[in-house]
Amino acid sequence: MGRLPLFASVSSLARRPAIADDSSQKTGIKAPPSSGSRRALDLLEKINALVGRTEDYQEALEGAVRVVAVTMDCEVCSLYSYDAHTETLGLAATKGLPARAIGRISMPKHEGLVGMVVENADVVCVEDALSHPRFKFFAALGEEKYHSFLGAPVGEGEGIIGVLVLQSRRRRRFLADEISLLRSVAGHIRTVMVNARLAERLQREEKERESYRRGMTQAIRRLEAHEASEKRRRTVVEGTGAEGVSFTGHGVSPGFGLGHVHLAMPPADLDHVVLHEGDPGVELERFEDALRLSTEEVERARVHMRDLVPEVGGDIYEALGMVILDPSFGELIRSRIGRGMAAESALKDVVEEYVERFRAMEDEYLRERASDVRDVGQRILRHLMGVSSHTAAELPEDTVLVAAELTLSDLSTVDPSRLKAIVSAAGGTTSHAAILAKSLEIPTAVGVDGVFTACREGDDIIVDGNSGSVYLRPDVEVLAEYRRLDSQFKVFQKGLEELRDLPAETLDGHRITLLANIGLIGDLDFADEHGAEGVGLYRTEFPFLSYRDFPSENEQLSLYRRVIERMDGRPVTIRTLDLGADKYPSYVSGQREQNPFLGWRSIRISLEYESLFQEQLRAILRAAGRSPLRILFPMITSVEEVRRVREIYSECVNDLAVEGQAPPKGVELGAMIEVPSAVMRVSQIVREVDFVSIGTNDLIQYTLAVDRDNRRVAPMYEPLHPAVLQSIVAVAGAAHDAGRRVGMCGEMAANPMSTLFLLGVGLDELSMGPLHIPLVKKLVRAVSMEDAESLASEILRYDTVEEIKGYIFSRLRELDLIEMVESFS
Ligand code: PEP
Ligand code: MG
Repeated sequence: MGRLPLFASVSSLARRPAIADDSSQKTGIKAPPSSGSRRALDLLEKINALVGRTEDYQEALEGAVRVVAVTMDCEVCSLYSYDAHTETLGLAATKGLPARAIGRISMPKHEGLVGMVVENADVVCVEDALSHPRFKFFAALGEEKYHSFLGAPVGEGEGIIGVLVLQSRRRRRFLADEISLLRSVAGHIRTVMVNARLAERLQREEKERESYRRGMTQAIRRLEAHEASEKRRRTVVEGTGAEGVSFTGHGVSPGFGLGHVHLAMPPADLDHVVLHEGDPGVELERFEDALRLSTEEVERARVHMRDLVPEVGGDIYEALGMVILDPSFGELIRSRIGRGMAAESALKDVVEEYVERFRAMEDEYLRERASDVRDVGQRILRHLMGVSSHTAAELPEDTVLVAAELTLSDLSTVDPSRLKAIVSAAGGTTSHAAILAKSLEIPTAVGVDGVFTACREGDDIIVDGNSGSVYLRPDVEVLAEYRRLDSQFKVFQKGLEELRDLPAETLDGHRITLLANIGLIGDLDFADEHGAEGVGLYRTEFPFLSYRDFPSENEQLSLYRRVIERMDGRPVTIRTLDLGADKYPSYVSGQREQNPFLGWRSIRISLEYESLFQEQLRAILRAAGRSPLRILFPMITSVEEVRRVREIYSECVNDLAVEGQAPPKGVELGAMIEVPSAVMRVSQIVREVDFVSIGTNDLIQYTLAVDRDNRRVAPMYEPLHPAVLQSIVAVAGAAHDAGRRVGMCGEMAANPMSTLFLLGVGLDELSMGPLHIPLVKKLVRAVSMEDAESLASEILRYDTVEEIKGYIFSRLRELDLIEMVESFS
């Protein structure tokens, strides 16, 4: 971006009637005295200097509000940007209010004092804002401290693009020259905002062009690959053609899978379509083909999804069908094509028009149809670009999904029953997509460097989900070896299943509880199949990701009820929403953060959006049944957070009682211990809760400063690092000292290399992907508690991971368990 065009020069400002007050009629304010002019010039000069120093508009706006706040002696100066299209205001820059609210706070113009500035198109000056009927309270802004309010429009009349606001703790009457000064600063800030919007648009357009070019290249590559795949498959089968090649990554879901590659392609995006022209005859034919394919796709998906994922049901697809079959939708596109637009351009144009019309509707249901139109548009575009999304019925039975970077939506758009295996070139073993893949019990390898570019659609491929090895275009010998290993693994697993109904009890009678981690209702089948004693972690954000808006209290209620009823008396641990980081539902907007794992996620979101949190707590409480119910709160970092959570929880309990819905008795509240500050303060935190559960997926990343999803640093993501082990010991000790139960629900609980240590340090419960329960149980049943305790205390004496692993291996060998552990790792 080039250097910012400066405001009007200072000398020209001096000539302009910048501080003449023309609002006196509405505000009763007189024109300012000339000392105010001097102050105005100083302030504008300062802002000019600041803007001249930076090439970043956001930085310039933030600098400007800082300077205004200091010069005008107010604790808060904020700039709100106004979108005349949606008639909403959003916080764009602030000095004094929480910076995290920037880009997140948005309000319609008919709300709040800020909105009143837009409605009046004039200055609003209120001495005691808190008692003003238009005052709107935002918990996230903490404005209850500020009494006086002065807001000036940025721009005039129809052309208002923002509001500049001053707020002060002290009750004060703003003077006439202060009002004029703010008005004149607002006038100049307008120039920066206009330039900022322009620059943003130019950048976006450039990005669109680039992305479109990339999309087309990919589509062409894909078509070429498709044509070549049949030929290649024949030559591989005959053992005469393309050479086999192997890759190594990390196994995340055990088992072997043989099949044909299906490449997960990045989705086509309507936003990236740049308007262009085309030959009507050709374009019309392309459009009709794409429309037909999309219609068939939607119908197939509707039938399929209704049975497969009860969280989503077939409703979404029914709504999409209504759009796609609407004759006027197709007609409008055809008529634009007839006027010379390319099919993609005509589609984009009509979709945008529809979306706009739906969004403007009063009725909420109709407003929501905007997203259906967009969804339909994306689907048709994908077919136009040749980037077909294979839906359930189209995928062959032996599909191996290969992604550059596996995402949750890659997994939600395919039918898991057709997947023999999953491979991702990027990603760590505890990424949420990997966790979901594991919960589907499909052999999966991640972090398989180079595999995506080497694969072509339809290639033969073998995936070893135990070791993370991948064989592309395997030769006859590799195929034979695969078959041997696969049948061996199946025999081994069958042996484990015999343990299903036996307790996880050591040779000397010490019991540990083995529970299931679940994300979707379908996981409950696996939990039963593998003998889970209950649910130790229900990641409620997974179903939230499949909805198109926050599920209502009643929708949540029916989900939670299904889990509780299915467990039929076994304990169920429901974790409240752990959104953010890599789990953003499409309907949660917010600025992308530089460090999302350190940012606005998890309990922080729940505490900021209290009503959402309360809705979830109420749904959980209302769902209670025969099973002991526990509620687990993620990412707790302090005692204050737990106390706040408890307060909100108590309010929900009371509200339900007042409404005549007797809240359940004996509900246990627990904190996840997954950040170092919680480990350090665990003795205090455990006193506030009934149990704690160690979330090693996050605890490892935060303790070792190693991103859980970053393949580059994956070797450093080490559960057996002495710092991690020490933390686990500290948490177990503090919990037991306080008489509380302690469990673990991170992936480490399923790692057979850790089992004896976790048993030895006295964890009461381990919760894991159901598939891992039998092996962990077998290990527990093969040792005495004394063996496990001595292993744990010995391990803690070592300084390096290598020594620790060496020692575990030697003990497992002595105990004759090494083969069992190696078969899974
Ligand atoms: C964890 O962090 O260990 C955990 C269980 O939570 P999640 O993987 O969902 O972040
Ligand atoms: Mg976590």
